[in-house]
Amino acid sequence: MVQVSLARGRHAVVIGGSMAGLLTARILVDYFEQVTILECDRFPTKSPQPRKGVPQCKQLHILLTRGRQIMEELFPGLETELIDADAAVLDMGADVAWLNPFGWAARFPSG
Ligand SMILES: Cc1cc2nc3c(=O)[nH]c(=O)nc-3n(C[C@H](O)[C@H](O)[C@H](O)COP(=O)(O)OP(=O)(O)OC[C@H]3O[C@@H](n4cnc5c(N)ncnc54)[C@H](O)[C@@H]3O)c2cc1C
Repeated sequence: MVQVSLARGRHAVVIGGSMAGLLTARILVDYFEQVTILECDRFPTKSPQPRKGVPQCKQLHILLTRGRQIMEELFPGLETELIDADAAVLDMGADVAWLNPFGWAARFPSG
């Protein structure tokens, strides 16, 4: 097991406030007195909206299980919030039809 020891710093700056930036900032608040996110877009204040800096956001996105677990640890209650905001819960193995160069992937409950 690798142990990381970080001295507590004063001010960390994260450039970009999308998935990577927000998750990075969440980790850094445990180690820095102040964390500032520099984001060139304005975030929507009400319901989620597409924004210029993340052109791929209009595309359907799937959050895989390990990512969901990690994000739930970092932001307790996030999963419930996402479901309340109409995120669909899927079993990737059973519910997603996947066409690849070898044909349709086998469907099976993956958990
Ligand atoms: C078509 C498509 C489908 C995808 N589907 C999935 C999927 O199903 N599941 C999945 O996990 N991933 C999926 N991905 C990948 C996923 O979208 C990216 O991995 C993810 O969005 C990357 O997040 P990020 O925070 O690293 O970068 P980005 O989301 O690109 O965010 C970068 C941020 O930095 C800001 N920024 C840029 N320049 C500056 C600057 N100079 N100063 C300040 N701020 C700046 C931008 O405004 C933005 O907020 C998909 C990608 C595409 C294109």
